[in-house]
Amino acid sequence: MSLSIIGNWKSNGSIKSNESWILEFKNYFNDSEISNLAICPPFIFIDQMFNLASGLGLKIGSQDVDSSSGARTGAISVEACIDVGCCFSLIGHSERRELFHESNIDLRQKVIAAQERGLQVVFCIGEPKEQHIAATTNEFLEEQIINSLSDLELTDGFTIAYEPIWAIGSGLVPNNDDIYKVHSFISDKLKSRYGGKAKKIKILYGGSVNKKNASSILSIDYVDGALVGGASLKFSDFRAILDFCN
Ligand code: PEP
Repeated sequence: MSLSIIGNWKSNGSIKSNESWILEFKNYFNDSEISNLAICPPFIFIDQMFNLASGLGLKIGSQDVDSSSGARTGAISVEACIDVGCCFSLIGHSERRELFHESNIDLRQKVIAAQERGLQVVFCIGEPKEQHIAATTNEFLEEQIINSLSDLELTDGFTIAYEPIWAIGSGLVPNNDDIYKVHSFISDKLKSRYGGKAKKIKILYGGSVNKKNASSILSIDYVDGALVGGASLKFSDFRAILDFCN
C-alpha cells in the first residue's frame, strides 16, 4: 500500500500565502505523478485551493463536516464540501472533540452523513495524556471506535488517523515501538470487525510529525502514512516529509 500524507492546515493560511504554497508545490513536483497526497485548508480557502491545485494531483479535504444541512448557521454540509471539490473530510479531530465538544455519537452521525453521500472519511482517534500514562490507550481507542463506528459498514477510502492528543503540536512523539503496538492493535480490531475488507483501511499516524522524524515513523509496520499539522504549513517543511515517501 502506498503511503498517504495529509496536511491539516487548521485555522491557518491566507489568500496570498496559499498562492505561494501552491507555487512552491508546483515548482517542486513539476510534471511528476502524485498520488495519495492531500491538504485540508480552512473551509473558506477550499475553493481557492481546489482551483489552484487543479491538474496537480493534490487532493483537497475538509477539516470537518456537518451531519446535516439547512437551518444550521455556520455549519458546512457534506453536499457543500463535495461541491467545492473535497474528496474526503477529517472527522473527529481531537480539537473538534475538545474545543467543540463533539461526542463519539455526534461523530458517528457525521460519518454516516459523509458515507451516504460519497464523501470519504478520515476518522481521527487518539488518547489524552492521562490514558497514555495509565497505559489504557487501547481501551480508550477501542471505545472511540466502537461508539462511533460499531455497526457501520465502511465505504471505500475509509481511513483511520491515530493521533495521541498529547503528541499533537507538542513536539512529543511516542517511541516507534509504541506506535507499532497501537497501530497493530487498531488493525486487529478492524480485522475482527471487517474481516478481509480491513486490509483496505489505511491507518495514518499524526502528532508532531516533522522532517526529522518522518522517515523513521513512516517506516514502522502498520503505519500507512501521516496526518501532519504544523509541518504542513510551510511547503519547505512539508516537502521534506514528502521526500521520504517517494
Ligand atoms: C494534527 O493536528 O492533526 C497534527 C498532527 O498536528 P501536529 O502535526 O502539529 O502535531
